[in-house]
Formats: sequence, structure tokens, C-alpha cells
Amino acid sequence: MPDASTASGLDVKEILDLDRAHVWHPYGPMPGRQDPLVVESAHGVRLRVAGVGELVDGMSSWWSAIHGYNHPVLNDAVREQLDSMSHVMFGGLTHEPAVRLAKRLVDLTPDGLEHVFLSDSGSVSVEVAVKMCLQHWRSLGRPEKRRMLTWRGGYHGDTWQPMAVCDPDGGMHSLWQGVLPQQVFADQPPAGFDAYDEAYARHLHDVIGQHAHELAGVIVEPVVQGAGGMRFHSPRYLRALREACDAHDVLLVFDEIATGFGRTGALFAADHAGVTPDVMCLGKSLTGGYLTMAATLCTERVAAGIARGEVPVLAHGPTFMGNPLAAAVANASIDLLVGQDWQTDVKRVETGLRAALAPATELPFVRDVRVLGALGVVQLDHQVDMEAATSAAVREGVWVRPFRDLIYTMPPFVTSDADVARIGRAVCAAAQASGEVSA
Ligand code: PMP
Repeated sequence: MPDASTASGLDVKEILDLDRAHVWHPYGPMPGRQDPLVVESAHGVRLRVAGVGELVDGMSSWWSAIHGYNHPVLNDAVREQLDSMSHVMFGGLTHEPAVRLAKRLVDLTPDGLEHVFLSDSGSVSVEVAVKMCLQHWRSLGRPEKRRMLTWRGGYHGDTWQPMAVCDPDGGMHSLWQGVLPQQVFADQPPAGFDAYDEAYARHLHDVIGQHAHELAGVIVEPVVQGAGGMRFHSPRYLRALREACDAHDVLLVFDEIATGFGRTGALFAADHAGVTPDVMCLGKSLTGGYLTMAATLCTERVAAGIARGEVPVLAHGPTFMGNPLAAAVANASIDLLVGQDWQTDVKRVETGLRAALAPATELPFVRDVRVLGALGVVQLDHQVDMEAATSAAVREGVWVRPFRDLIYTMPPFVTSDADVARIGRAVCAAAQASGEVSA
């Protein structure tokens, strides 16, 4: 890579040397084996990368930067908030940005979700969700209901309890099987947004019934199982889950950390089914990808159960709970999203991705191409060769981050038609390059 100097004064080589020596990356070895790209700045849908130039971002920083980077409205929201208060503890204190956000979330999410716990990452919001479920039953005198049921192929985060509800076999956290709290796993739903199998819905009902005596809740990623395989399923299974949970006295948790705020074409994936879960987790695009914040919402029933316990409080209180900067930019991001015709934007990206990824279906080693909302997936018949695939995409001027057998893209909703087409070309080129290496 050319020895370009960055704004910070360190040259690229110095940055990479320090990175390799000291810095962990997601799911990375220490020391690092492959040099990451050095990002100098990000504007709109483009990342400026040292020694490379501009790349169209096909990842929205993992689902989150739905409005693109350096958005003037979001920048102003942070700046304005910064002038009055960057952070205060949330114990015994409150402030307008947080309560406005809570009210906004209650109004936008499915009817019945009324109480909001503001935390600092998606994984923590799942920890809180599971804690709410277990504590609800414990408080009602049923402490034996302390397990969660989830689908195989799921992913809910990297801290301990979320790890326990990730796919146990071959999943990201399979190293820890036997050490993690034991949960109950049900078969993965049949693939396909439009496919519905009545027999599978009955199976769900049966498994939930069989384990109801020990189940505090069921937790699933609605409509899209993300990091576990970018797999889509019918929203009708969410209704089947709702019915089974109601019939067997089990709480239902939707992890909408990835799907929330429009990505699948509905504001929340639950809206495809018209289902209200008892608990819902939000994160990622909550702040438009600006700052780290997540939310766990629950119904009055869940909160009232907890309140009846011997310990009537929810014993969770992160230092950065309700952070005003994050809450202010979340409010601005939500206003920006719902104040415009976001459905048309997502539909436009969806249509563009369908057209742009279609050529991948012709490649011999492509197993499946699927698109839902502003999410496009090319699944190969082999583990993607990361270096070949990312280099091919970068040559096309696009940033994507393949994973296992998947090359996928989740662009910001504001991505122009031309840039969506470019992302599509890059994903196809990445698939082609990976296929050639593995052949
Ligand atoms: N749940 C889902 C569905 C996710 O996609 C993720 C993040 N990839 C998480 C939970 C964990 O969120 P975070 O990385 O913010 O802890």
C-alpha cells in the first residue's frame, strides 16, 4: 500500500504497525494476519481509504449507517447536544434526549411495548432482554422457567448470555458449548420470505409446549437471521410463535438489532407480521450508526411481573445508560427516517439490488442470490476466499466484507441508483474472484 500520510500525522505504515501490534479486530487473531484498510474519512456513502481512494460503502458499517456518513442533520444534533451535556449518570438523573427517545420508540414500535431500557450495545440489550424474561417468571414464583428457546442458525451477540442463544453447532460461539448456559434449540425455519410450511409452524408449537415448564422466553431474529447465515423466512412464523407463546405462557423476544428501522422494507420486521413481542431489542441503526446505543423495550405485563418480585427492580445499570449524545442523534436519525419517504428509498435500493445481483445467478459456484429490502446476499458453494473477494470488490470501488460462504451488502438507504449498480457489480466480481481461487 502506498505510504500516504493521514490527517492524524501518523503515516499509513505507522498506523498499520500499531494496529498489528496492539489492536484486536472483530473475530480477529492477535497479532493480526491481514492488514485492514485505513479509513481516513467517511462522507455520504463513501469511505476515503488511504492509498486506495474512495470506496462506496456496501455495508452501512454493519447495518447501522442508514443515512450515510457525516450527515449534516446528524452532525448538528451531536454538536448541539455536545454544547449542553455530553454525558451524565442515569441513576437518579434524567434528561430530555433520553425521555424523548423512549417516547419515540414506544410510539413507533408495535403497540403494547411501553417501557424502554437504554443501554450501550446490541449484546447488552439482549442480556437485558433475557434478564427481563427470567426475572419476570422468578418474580411470579416460577424460577424454574429460566431457559430461552431459540432457532438454530441464530445470532444475538458476543457477550455471555447472547452467546448462549447463538447457533450452538458450527456457529460463532461453538467453542463455548458446554460452558455456556444451556438453552433449548428448535429447528431453523424453512428458508424464503414467501415460503410457509404449516407443518413447521405446528412443530414450533409442539417444541414450545414440550419445554414450556422450563422456558422463560423464546428469542428470535424476526424475518432475517443475520450473522448466522443471512437467511430470510416467512413473517407468518412470527405469528405462529406469538400464538404458541401465548398458549404456553412463555414470553416472546424479537431481536430487531439488525432488522429495525426499515432495513427489510417494514419499519420493524415484526410489522411484516403485525405481531407485538413481549420484549424487543434495538441497536445498530438506532443512532444512524453514529454512536453506540441500544434499547430493550418491554410490555407492561413484563414490567409488572418484575415489579411484583422480592427484588422488584431490574438490576442492570450501565455507566453510559441513556447517553445524551447518543440519544440526541438517535432522535435526529429517527426524525430523519420517518420524516421522509423511507419506504420508497428502501424499495428503490431493493429493486436496484435485484437487478444488479442477477448476473451472479449465472455463476457456476453461486448457490443462491436473495434480496429483501436494502439487503442483498450472494451465497456461494464454498467458503469465500476473503482476500480474493475483497480485493475484487475494492478494484470495483466498493467496500464489502464477505463472511463464511456469503458475500452480502446492506447499503445506506440513500445510496444512489448508480452506486447500487456499482455495489452489485462489485459483489458479482467478488463472487467470481472467490470462485476462481477455489476452483
Ligand atoms: N443481535 C443481532 C441480530 C445482531 O446482528 C447483532 C450484531 N451483529 C447483535 C445482536 C449484537 O449487537 P452488538 O454488536 O451491538 O453488540
